[in-house]
Amino acid sequence: MPIDRVLILRPTRTVAEGSISLTPNALRALDHVVGVYDHLKAAAFSYRRLAMHADDSYLFGHLLQHNDEYNALRILCSTLHNIMLDACEEQPDLVQVRYGVHITSIEDRDDGVTLHFGDGTTARGDILIGADGIHSKVREHVLGASAPTPTFLGSCMLTGTLPLASLNAPPGWTFPAVLFTPVGLVSVWPHNTSGTEAAWCVAEDLPPKDRAAWRAYEASGEAARTAKRNYAGVQTPVIRALMDTVRADAVKLWTPHCIPEIPRWHLGRVCLVGDAAHALPPNGQGSAMAFEDAAYLARLLGAHPLDAPRDVARVFEQFERNRLPRIERVRALAHGTGGAKGGTAAGWKYTLKKWGMAAYFAWNGYELRDERISGYDVTTQEVGVGVA
Ligand SMILES: Cc1cc2nc3c(=O)[nH]c(=O)nc-3n(C[C@H](O)[C@H](O)[C@H](O)COP(=O)(O)OP(=O)(O)OC[C@H]3O[C@@H](n4cnc5c(N)ncnc54)[C@H](O)[C@@H]3O)c2cc1C
Repeated sequence: MPIDRVLILRPTRTVAEGSISLTPNALRALDHVVGVYDHLKAAAFSYRRLAMHADDSYLFGHLLQHNDEYNALRILCSTLHNIMLDACEEQPDLVQVRYGVHITSIEDRDDGVTLHFGDGTTARGDILIGADGIHSKVREHVLGASAPTPTFLGSCMLTGTLPLASLNAPPGWTFPAVLFTPVGLVSVWPHNTSGTEAAWCVAEDLPPKDRAAWRAYEASGEAARTAKRNYAGVQTPVIRALMDTVRADAVKLWTPHCIPEIPRWHLGRVCLVGDAAHALPPNGQGSAMAFEDAAYLARLLGAHPLDAPRDVARVFEQFERNRLPRIERVRALAHGTGGAKGGTAAGWKYTLKKWGMAAYFAWNGYELRDERISGYDVTTQEVGVGVA
């Protein structure tokens, strides 16, 4: 029997703050499988390259972010979510969205899955796809006592928004741009179609805290004050302008966590996707991996009726067999970029790295293209079950 109804659970219609970048590999999935690319393109900032500067404004060169089919997009998460939810609401016979429920427990039997919610209600279906993020409840069900606790990666990301013009960037500067400094990476990302509004992001090393303590720290404004102190010695005009603009009460703090490789992504009629299955160190590909997962699983489910528990197992086995090598490849590349702080160093080590980077960009004609991540095409992956 093919899937004829989908129930999506969401906390509220729009909860997401911030903005994210979508590279061609994610856009291919969102275009050819989900069908929302035109709406995303109309609402996002489209860009072909990412400028890379040193702390003295020196331009190393550019990382190319486009291919023949797509430019990269930077989009507000709230806009992205609204576009996806609008697409769901256009198909009420197929997709129902239920807001405000939180899964507290899962019962998985041969004949179906029952979800129990915090408000005492339940829902039942043939399969459950756990796309519930880094602190996944569904992962606890799939792995039981061996479910890993997500680990804080040590560097927080401070983010906020500003009018791009407030940075007074010198003539010739283009955005998005990343500045490599002895303190850490600073990046600026236009996120509206005209490129007048932007998100900024800086990394800050901090000891781990529990969720309540992180929220209290964010509300105290201390993170922003520390960043201003840390970057006081960096004289790049764009960073000076940014630090002058930052208002402590308008800074959002992100605390990237990750999980190690887990022994399995599925159990019975339940399968994990996205951060629930494989949260990676920050490398701008977390959502892209979630979209690739969703697109590939949708293609598998579309190609194979689920008449018996064995059919479900074969689809989930094929999903994991195909996706795991891809995720491990992207994880290895993410480690290579040095995480949230971009592997920056102080003193002579910084000088050495800076000139190493300058030489590398010059050797490559000042433009680097890396197809290992963005060249991947989820739409051509084999959907036969039992294919290695
Ligand atoms: C600062 C920052 C910048 C980033 N930038 C990028 C970028 O530029 N590009 C990119 O590709 N990625 C980026 N990422 C990574 C990306 O945001 C994540 O990898 C991505 O959101 C993972 O998607 P997901 O659907 O797996 O999980 P999530 O986006 O975390 O969604 C999980 C959902 O499940 C819900 N949920 C959780 N528990 C329950 C429960 N028990 N019951 C019901 N619902 C539940 C949550 O409310 C949430 O809506 C960034 C991350 C950070 C922190």
